[in-house]
Amino acid sequence: MPQWPLGHDVFHFSAVKSTPASVARIRFWGVRGSIPTPGASTVRYGGNTSCVEIRADNEIIILDAGSGIRLLGQALEEEFGSEPIKLALLISHTHWDHIQGLPFFLPAYGSKNQLRVFGYDGTRTRLGEILAGQMETPFFPVSMSDLPGKIEVEELRANEFQIGKVRVRSKLLNHPGVCAGYRIYTSAGSIAYMPDNEPFEHLDVQLRNRGANNTGHKYKSPAQERSDLLEFLHGVDVLILDAQYTDEEYRRHIGWGHGSISSVVALALDAEAKRLVLFHHDPDHDDATLDEIVKYARRQIAEKGSSMTVEAAKEGTELILGGSSVETA
Ligand SMILES: [Zn+2]
Ligand SMILES: [Zn+2]
Repeated sequence: MPQWPLGHDVFHFSAVKSTPASVARIRFWGVRGSIPTPGASTVRYGGNTSCVEIRADNEIIILDAGSGIRLLGQALEEEFGSEPIKLALLISHTHWDHIQGLPFFLPAYGSKNQLRVFGYDGTRTRLGEILAGQMETPFFPVSMSDLPGKIEVEELRANEFQIGKVRVRSKLLNHPGVCAGYRIYTSAGSIAYMPDNEPFEHLDVQLRNRGANNTGHKYKSPAQERSDLLEFLHGVDVLILDAQYTDEEYRRHIGWGHGSISSVVALALDAEAKRLVLFHHDPDHDDATLDEIVKYARRQIAEKGSSMTVEAAKEGTELILGGSSVETA
């Protein structure tokens, strides 16, 4: 029975391109959940699945390898040219929308490049085997072991570790299978990435509905689990959080492992997050629906008299976190 790890791992790692020490850049390459959704109705928010790039303290940290990582790979190759690229990729979990872009990630095909992949074991299979599995015949023509890039898969055993100077804490999220959220402490502030997470309010029903997809993890009471999550998130500067469903949709999807807009806003407010970024947009939500969801969230925040800002993650946009202010570039 997998239990959430404790302790501290240290990985020595440094990237080649520098970002000013007091600034962190967060760029969204894929913001969609479940499956890519190209098309006219999703063109403003974007249709690629989960991938976020953070540049801070001389590191390039990539969060998840959904289909958005393909565009990131092209941009990195263009930027670095013949120079080597050193990257750290944190995988939240191995559901396909979080790893499906990896076979199309150009830096993995360059022998000059180094990619370190961090994540936790799947429920029954090791992380490295799962990532390689999606590239085996008959699914893909190039096997992971034949990729020229230097790729190391490092299974995390602790819930706190370092990537160079950047400290990272992880937390088991409420989602079918093993799914980690990460809080990344840069010198410019902290960023929490929780791409797939369900509120704990209906935990009994959720576990019943998930059936064989449960890991056997022993949860505490819903109130205690929520309080632990609030401790993990407290005072975070940028909170990137699963807000897949409207409140009405959530009632029909209890146990599927995703958040509803009201519960997500309430969690962010209680955690005293400074900026909430709604993430993992439902494939059936077009741009107009996402606009409405953002308006709804803003009304909720205004009613509470909070200064927290909220927006829906948009593919191709960048947030800059620096000093005491956070702004959109
Ligand atoms: Zn997902
Ligand atoms: Zn998932």
